[in-house]
Amino acid sequence: MKFITTVVGSYPTHKLKNEEDVDPFRKAIEEAVRDQIEAGVQLISDGQVRGDMITLFARKIPGYKIERRPVVVDRIYPPKEGITVEDYLLTKELAGDKADVKGIITGPFTMALGSGVSRESPYRNIMDPELIFDLARVQAEEAKALTRAGAEVIQIDEPAFSLGVDLELGREAVEMIAENIKVPTLHVCGDVAHIFEKLLEIDVSILDHEFTNTRNLDVIEREMIEPYDIRIGYGCVNTKLNEVESVEVIEKRIVEAVKKLGAENIWIDPDCGLRLLSREVAKKKLENMVIASKNVAKMIEEGEL
Ligand SMILES: [Zn+2]
Repeated sequence: MKFITTVVGSYPTHKLKNEEDVDPFRKAIEEAVRDQIEAGVQLISDGQVRGDMITLFARKIPGYKIERRPVVVDRIYPPKEGITVEDYLLTKELAGDKADVKGIITGPFTMALGSGVSRESPYRNIMDPELIFDLARVQAEEAKALTRAGAEVIQIDEPAFSLGVDLELGREAVEMIAENIKVPTLHVCGDVAHIFEKLLEIDVSILDHEFTNTRNLDVIEREMIEPYDIRIGYGCVNTKLNEVESVEVIEKRIVEAVKKLGAENIWIDPDCGLRLLSREVAKKKLENMVIASKNVAKMIEEGEL
């Protein structure tokens, strides 16, 4: 057996001072891709190197203005071209046949919560359902563009869901995007124990969460997820800690999940993005995660688990 190993998305980055006609972020994408492949990760990302998860999209969405932070100043509508498609294609080209590449989209609630809304805009405030749905339409187009570019797994990031937003609206908005994706993944970091049953109602293939410092594994049961045909993205590497966990520690975490959820029901990844770590630590964490997942797979094959 073999676990699918992946990442949540962001990777430590730095903008290079380059000659004018060279993309200053190209090198950062190359580094992120190389590190993930060398660590042995199977399903990699472009590293989301161009900015935080809000600005990354807002800078290209008509209706936004980037001030100290992204502010909605006019009606939001989809840009003519995909926002992350160029970086996705570059990543695919760099990865060749060494790894698969996932697409990553920041969800509408998280986009809205990370933005300001100016008085000139047609929206009442950041939680205006009209704004949420307009953002969902933008990201549905992005999902289509990524799918056309060859992305099968596309992850929708909604960390805002664990902060107490209206999950009925959240479900509708996520599904508007997910219906354009072959393998839709929903990443919600933080403690989701209190909302997990609601998340199960959302029509996606994978629910991806943090497990190293939450109570999430306490509330998720194999019997709960199997009827929905949902896999769990099992975050088993702490991304808030700029210190590498040993293979043994990660192995133990994976064994716990295998016992509780079943090996066939989990994908292996870090808790969240790696952006805030040093590059050296980020790479080593991924390396140890891949080794640990191989060790556990071997234990299962040899009947030890
Ligand atoms: Zn996260």
